Amino acid sequence: MSGDILTLNAGSSSLKFAVFDAEARDRTPRISGMIAGIGRAPEFSARASGGAPLDTGDFGALGAETSHAEGIVLLLDWLARHQGERPLQAVGHRVVHGGKGFSAPTRVTDAVLAELETLVPLAPLHQPHNLAAIRAVAAWRPDLCQIACFDTGFHHTQDRLSRIFALPRALTDEGIIRYGFHGLSYDHIARVLPEHLGPRAEGRVIVAHLGNGASLCAMKGRKSLATSMGFTALDGLVMGRRCGSLDPGVLLYLMQSKGMGVAEIEDLLYRQSGLFGVSGISNNMRVLEQSGAPEADEAIALFAYRAASVLAGLLPALGGLDALVFTAGIGENSARTRQAICAHLGWLGVEVDAAANAENAVRISSDGSAVDVLVVPTDEEAVIAAACRALLDDAAA
Ligand code: AMP
Repeated sequence: MSGDILTLNAGSSSLKFAVFDAEARDRTPRISGMIAGIGRAPEFSARASGGAPLDTGDFGALGAETSHAEGIVLLLDWLARHQGERPLQAVGHRVVHGGKGFSAPTRVTDAVLAELETLVPLAPLHQPHNLAAIRAVAAWRPDLCQIACFDTGFHHTQDRLSRIFALPRALTDEGIIRYGFHGLSYDHIARVLPEHLGPRAEGRVIVAHLGNGASLCAMKGRKSLATSMGFTALDGLVMGRRCGSLDPGVLLYLMQSKGMGVAEIEDLLYRQSGLFGVSGISNNMRVLEQSGAPEADEAIALFAYRAASVLAGLLPALGGLDALVFTAGIGENSARTRQAICAHLGWLGVEVDAAANAENAVRISSDGSAVDVLVVPTDEEAVIAAACRALLDDAAA
């Protein structure tokens, strides 16, 4: 099977892409890049496998009005010019919510797309963009194999106790359960963990995916046992703009006493809260760290305290902790946040080496720490590409 696999990861204001050789089994893309700032001031950047920037001068005009779908069309045209003669074998998409129906990577048909559409209310920030990307590719090349890879999929190994809410059984049976997200990121960490931990990778591990969206996953045998996100990607940790866990009574109060409607509450929970809401300054951790304002410091402190509290809540699923792994934008880059989280976990035997932490070293725990603490970059694109290769191989067999 010669040719390429394109991966698309459509976020709320960005579109990441990578082009992988369909035959080579390595994790390095031939081309990768992103359109950042969609809806505001979009910018396109791309680089080759060695890291050298690629010429983007011939990319079409982007403006504040450019939609995700229009951005994808420009990207596909640009790729067609830069890919050379290599045919595209498949396009793999990150799709945030697979609901009850989908866990394994799935070839997209009209019926699959229609079912994924019903999940839009459960992931309003992401699912519409994920599906817009699929539709844009289908309009461009209807014959092209498209594969949906689900952020919820990795958590299907969890047992029932980790998944159900204390709601009436009929609602549980309807699918109102904890699905969990960031599964592609956790899948990547689970794959590379033995490179860093050897046999301890099979032990009791918590992975902290700390980016604009943030969650924790408790793994044993590199399988998900429990996670902090639930029915939607709102639950659990404080995030860039999302509130994380909230007393549901607050929602009743907002509706009853302040007369707030669904759209207003959705905006409050998904866009006005989290680091942004608490600080009143920014959703961006780097900006908050540089701010020095007491509100920014409080937002960072709350982020760290809640991360440690939620982590502690996952420990019964594991019965202890052998390793803690930080990943994603904040997890990989913010020494201050890692230190602040670990400072709440000394009672667990977590001890950080300040110098290693400051350098974003792979191992940041001290020699005497009872828990290995690691910093491991995530790579959702590599997981999507591997899933596409596997499905293409199956189809060819
Ligand atoms: P992600 O969603 O994984 O791209 O992560 C985005 C988050 O990572 C934003 O809050 C960034 O401010 C944060 N981040 C990225 N680099 C740094 C850094 N060097 N220091 C602190 N936070 C960072």
